[in-house]
Amino acid sequence: MYKWGFLGLLHLLWSLVEAAKLTDLAETPDWKRLDRFQESISKQEFITQLNEVYCPRESWWSPWIEIEENRARIRKKGGSDEFYDLHFSESNKSAHQSPNYFQISGSKILIDPGHIGGQFSEMEGRHFAIGDDKPVKEGNLALSVALLIKSELERKGAEVLLTRQKNQPVTKSRPRDFKDLAETWFGKMKLSNELSAEEKNKRLKKRRELYFYRVSEIMARSQIIRKMKPSLILCIHLNAAPWPDPENKSLVSRNDYHVLVNGCYMGGEIAYDNQRFEMIWRLLNRWDVRERFIAEHMSNAFAQKTGLPAFSYKGPNALKIGEVKGVWARNLLANRIYEAPVIFLEPYIANSEAVYERIKMGDYNGHKKIGDEMVTSLLREYAGAVMLGLEKASRQK
Ligand SMILES: [Zn+2]
Repeated sequence: MYKWGFLGLLHLLWSLVEAAKLTDLAETPDWKRLDRFQESISKQEFITQLNEVYCPRESWWSPWIEIEENRARIRKKGGSDEFYDLHFSESNKSAHQSPNYFQISGSKILIDPGHIGGQFSEMEGRHFAIGDDKPVKEGNLALSVALLIKSELERKGAEVLLTRQKNQPVTKSRPRDFKDLAETWFGKMKLSNELSAEEKNKRLKKRRELYFYRVSEIMARSQIIRKMKPSLILCIHLNAAPWPDPENKSLVSRNDYHVLVNGCYMGGEIAYDNQRFEMIWRLLNRWDVRERFIAEHMSNAFAQKTGLPAFSYKGPNALKIGEVKGVWARNLLANRIYEAPVIFLEPYIANSEAVYERIKMGDYNGHKKIGDEMVTSLLREYAGAVMLGLEKASRQK
């Protein structure tokens, strides 16, 4: 009984590290990039960052990272015993190399308007229409907000770059370029016998589109970022709630905001060789220090400017960071592969009664009346909250 249990456990542990895996379109990681971080972090700080930001369950990281007295051994490739040895520093002083210091003036800030918008908004699932009203496209709204923030930041002396200036893709690829990749994915699903030809084609089409508008698009943006080397990235999004009845769309009453930093790599994610590398890369760059510092100011600013409650996650895919409400860690493609501290903003529920009403009013100067209240345009309120957050962070020494 005991012996069987032990073998079963061994088998389970081995299956966790069995195969070398990369996420779609990802490159094999270049572990030598970590060399410059040798003896730059203490054992205590490494473990704290792992548990409190990047991977909150030891059972998730233990198949991949072995902690010894003077080094962490990180498995480079699933199914192999090749390790990257990261030697710890003795003292903790390196922890203070990235202090909570930020200044708008002189900073190089990159703004990433989420999604593509325009003619691609339906394909990317960031589009809805109520009756005969003009459709709401998250990508278009994000670009409008990004442009408002850009001009405000430039007035305050920052150098500002945008990943896109139009509601058009950055990637040169299109869904048709991912035919083989989608076929391979479908083959791995082992569903061929269970699905009709029509259903199969539908799923293949969706998969080709996903490779285009999400994976390839975000990778193209990450290439721009690598060249620009910004000190901060702002990802501009508007959140949306699931439709109570997708067949018969009616607006919801929920409305809230939250701010994301990178972290919370789950067991199935850290099993990918590239994601494991990217997590360690972010940890060693201490980008989480700046992300948390700015995100907390940003969250307070959104609470103040919008009066909205902060959203709370329930599942294991997000981790609460610090005490300030509304700040959470998640592992998303964009905040993982963009090489700089990333603040990922998710304010407003676009398909809520209150927000939809304001989206319909568009952008305008000054105030307009809604019911008994005088309100600024939603886009300007969003940009104003971002500016307030950055100004507060910039003032604090
Ligand atoms: Zn979005």
